[in-house]
Amino acid sequence: MKIFAPKEINPIETRASLDPAAVKKLVGLGAEVSVESGLGARCGHGDAAYIDAGATVTADRAAGLAAADLVTRVRQPALDEVGLLKAGAIHISFLDPFHETELISRFAAQQVSAISLEMIPRTTLAQKMDAISSQANLAGYAAVVIAASRMNTIFPMMMTPAGTISPAKVFVLGIGVAGLQAIATAKRLGARVTAFDVRPEALEQAESLGAKALRIDLGTTAGTDQGYAKELSPDQLAKQIDAQAKVCAQSDVVITTAKVFGRKPPILIKKDVVASMQSGSVIVDLAAESGGNVEGITPGEVTVTANGVKLIGLANIEGTVAKHASQVLAANFANMIEHFWDKEARTFMIKPADEIQQGCLITHGGSIVHERFKI
Ligand code: NAD
Repeated sequence: MKIFAPKEINPIETRASLDPAAVKKLVGLGAEVSVESGLGARCGHGDAAYIDAGATVTADRAAGLAAADLVTRVRQPALDEVGLLKAGAIHISFLDPFHETELISRFAAQQVSAISLEMIPRTTLAQKMDAISSQANLAGYAAVVIAASRMNTIFPMMMTPAGTISPAKVFVLGIGVAGLQAIATAKRLGARVTAFDVRPEALEQAESLGAKALRIDLGTTAGTDQGYAKELSPDQLAKQIDAQAKVCAQSDVVITTAKVFGRKPPILIKKDVVASMQSGSVIVDLAAESGGNVEGITPGEVTVTANGVKLIGLANIEGTVAKHASQVLAANFANMIEHFWDKEARTFMIKPADEIQQGCLITHGGSIVHERFKI
């Protein structure tokens, strides 16, 4: 089986789908791996490192795509690149299938089996290939480090002969994978952390990391069978926004990570709350790329409000730590390929009835096969 990893074309993307360690693993399985020249240039891996790991390096992207039995990439391809793939090829990447309807139809028409990393089930068996988690974990860390670097104050308490400096107050909104890592990182830096999530079990997890859980009685907050939160009702949302306003106003740093699977993230911090915050405080919105949790935040930009609050809506925050983000993402790819690898045929087996593939295989055999996206 020929595996090809093209360079990312989105200018904000610094990660690579394969790193040399993943190439080595795939070559060890018996795959022929080829990567586009410059694949790892923005995450610390030169072409020579891929060659040393057993890959061939090509500058001919179109030929690489056309010859591939399996393509790995971080972001979804441009529509016209789908047409370069051969019928029967497998394509694995983040796909944003809820919004990329045309792309999905194009994959089906091209008879490509498209696998969406976002749709990998959150199960123990699939954990080793769970790219959402591997990236969210690093994004949570990076969000805190970015906030710390943009403040004019420090995180830890310091008792010095010149007086005592109070610890930073950090509020983490949304305690999923990213939120938990943000709490852990902020605690390590010495901050006093408060956290809120609509899932009660997440509050307990925050407490076990030493954060103070903000408890707001919202009535029933249902979750999905995958452990995701469901959308709140307008009344519940209004109650939450009101109850957390005081915590925001008193915080030096607010990190928002709240997402509802398959939907636009809820706006949880409105302009009046931002206006009530102290000058010099910082909000990092990890949901910014998909719409944001904070009113007035511009995805991909850092802005300062009239009252001196820094709104950080950076896109691709995990890409700020591109080497490690690529390391774990590439490991997710290699683990997935290994999991479905047939040693004798030396090929990735498409098994539409398999529990994991049922979750993440979107198109196959010329059709959209995923129940959620069938037209
Ligand atoms: P996510 O990125 O979809 O959302 C981030 C957090 O935002 C979630 O904790 C969610 O509850 C929260 N949220 C939604 N609406 C909110 C609101 N109005 N206010 C505050 N918070 C709100 O979540 P995720 O990080 O991808 O994790 C989702 C779930 O999957 C979690 O339960 C996690 O423990 C679970 N998970 C399981 C596995 C596994 O079993 N293999 C792996 C990873 C994650």
